[in-house]
Amino acid sequence: MDLFRLLQTTVPVAGTDRQFPVRRIYCVGRNYEKHVAEMGHDVKRSKPFYFAKPADAIVLSGGTVDYPPRTGDLHHEIELVVAIGKAGSNVPVEAALDHVFGYAVGIDLTRRDLQHAAKEKGQPWETAKGFDQSAPITAIHPAASIGHRSSGRIWLAVNGEIRQDADLGEQIWNVQESVAELSSLFELAPGDLLYTGTPAGVGPLEPGDEVTGGIAGIDEIRIRIA
Ligand code: MN
Repeated sequence: MDLFRLLQTTVPVAGTDRQFPVRRIYCVGRNYEKHVAEMGHDVKRSKPFYFAKPADAIVLSGGTVDYPPRTGDLHHEIELVVAIGKAGSNVPVEAALDHVFGYAVGIDLTRRDLQHAAKEKGQPWETAKGFDQSAPITAIHPAASIGHRSSGRIWLAVNGEIRQDADLGEQIWNVQESVAELSSLFELAPGDLLYTGTPAGVGPLEPGDEVTGGIAGIDEIRIRIA
């Protein structure tokens, strides 16, 4: 690869020939009560917390993810992804949707064993969350076309067997609250993506697995683990 070649990760915008240029990938942790409980944490409604993945961790739906190194416990987390289209800092909750360009369906792939080890040692989560190919995503669907999403079925299946099945309405922090809080920590910019947390039912993937998932009214995602 040419050292001086400019690389820009992009995600197709559904219904157009345009590409959404990915600047940053943020993720919300512990945003559905039953998932918080299955991970052994107390459900506290204080404030959302965030972690990040590198922009080039994106894998487009229909693609293949190589089973990552240094883990024996790769987990799926189906998530609503918010695509930011307008800059802003300290955005009020009531204005947060003005900054949302559209929505996609994503999977926050996680090396759960490395995450458990990091939590125990008080270490950061990058190796557990921000590894290569850790951010599968569908095309982005503009809010101008599909509207804003606060409810609807969110599900994931492995080899056709349902593993996660919930509703966006179960989110502890809704899209407005997650975007507003994020904007008090980082200046939002067009091209930012926010994975908004996963419902209960996370579990391990194996090489050869076909992973499908979706959110009602948005899209369906499909990846294969190689
Ligand atoms: Mn997640």
